Amino acid sequence: MPETPEELHARVAGALRMPPVEEWETFPFDGELRPRPLAPPAAVDTPRHGEGGFDCARCTASDDEFFWTSERWRLRALGPTGLPFVAMLESREHYADPGDLPENLAAELGVLLARTERAIRELGQIGRVHVCRWGDGGEHLHWWFMARPTRIPQLIGSFAAIWDDILPPVPEEIWREDIARVAAALE
Ligand SMILES: [Zn+2]
Repeated sequence: MPETPEELHARVAGALRMPPVEEWETFPFDGELRPRPLAPPAAVDTPRHGEGGFDCARCTASDDEFFWTSERWRLRALGPTGLPFVAMLESREHYADPGDLPENLAAELGVLLARTERAIRELGQIGRVHVCRWGDGGEHLHWWFMARPTRIPQLIGSFAAIWDDILPPVPEEIWREDIARVAAALE
């Protein structure tokens, strides 16, 4: 069984390490850094937006916000973003976590993750499409697709999510054209 947050905090707070990030090619920042002190555990875990579907903006979003929809899933593009293409796949109904999905929806999700990844990768000039799920912000089940450009070694790996906010946005015209191409590939 994992340690309690109090046990974990007591063990690590005085012994935080600084990984040699400044030596990593993918690390986006320059300059001297140190870890922030680790604050003690909170009384409760941080609540997410739209918990239990109450006041959930994703449940009430109109289909117009999405570039592809089906009976049970909807896909929207974020941006224009710094990375060439960033999209989010959402369940139409409110589910919180992947393990909450009924089996038929979980199976459908697997197929959709693969199709969407392929559709985005086929835009061309894409090195990788990262398929991610964090889910600490909004509770409504959502999956990230983050496409990084090919042949720019500094943009590989998980820092791509940070680079997305550093790179200036893709020109709107290109972005709209790419959305249309991904939508067409999914039909
Ligand atoms: Zn919802």
